[in-house]
Amino acid sequence: MTQLGGMVSRQAHNLRKAGSIPAAATILLAVLVACGGGRPAPRPPAAPSPAPSAGPPLVATAPDPFVDELAFFDRGVIWRPQLQHAFSVEAGPEFDEQLVDHVLAQATAATGGDVGFARGLRSVPDVRLVLDGADPALYRDGQLVAAAVAYQEQRGGVMVGGRVVVAHPVWITPKVLLHELGHVLGLGHTQAPGPYVMGGAPLEQDAFDARERAAWRWIAAQAPGTRRAGADVRPAAAPGPVVCRELLP
Ligand SMILES: [Zn+2]
Repeated sequence: MTQLGGMVSRQAHNLRKAGSIPAAATILLAVLVACGGGRPAPRPPAAPSPAPSAGPPLVATAPDPFVDELAFFDRGVIWRPQLQHAFSVEAGPEFDEQLVDHVLAQATAATGGDVGFARGLRSVPDVRLVLDGADPALYRDGQLVAAAVAYQEQRGGVMVGGRVVVAHPVWITPKVLLHELGHVLGLGHTQAPGPYVMGGAPLEQDAFDARERAAWRWIAAQAPGTRRAGADVRPAAAPGPVVCRELLP
């Protein structure tokens, strides 16, 4: 294991495994371009849990439009990552181990260590990186439209895992993988002039910008079930694919 990988692994081991999470899971789809349907979710889809039952629903207003844009939500509920949690990652044999370790370390560092990513922490992975050029979500009208897709798995607005599907080996790159892990961290996209990992096409950056890290920190600080102020302005996304409109790199 590389020194970097060892650091990540130790850091991840120090993170506490998530505790009580409702059983049902919702799988949504974030795509690197435009997406049509997706393959059946690996777990039965279910509606996200509502806000905590006691008291009025929590509502949050992002500090600026950049953060508001990056905050990913479904039916008004902001999706935030499980904090103090280490995502156990499993990568297919086509994925170079050093490249994967590098990207996982970048994603971990972007969270300040509040969320970790490391390969092989547990027998059942939270995040899978797979190469599958036949994934239907990569296509629209029979045409390949995406380099990769990320299936986000959340429970009650808390990101608990995901599956990243890359269409072709040439797109197993730090930029592509880090962008997709950004979705697993609960990030959406930004249209702001970049370069940003979560920016538009072509994929721009292989390390999160300070603004992206700050946005993530705000998102991560929201209590589970928190609703985005004015969320009804945007149409409900799902259950179903969340559309990303980026070009193939
Ligand atoms: Zn995306």
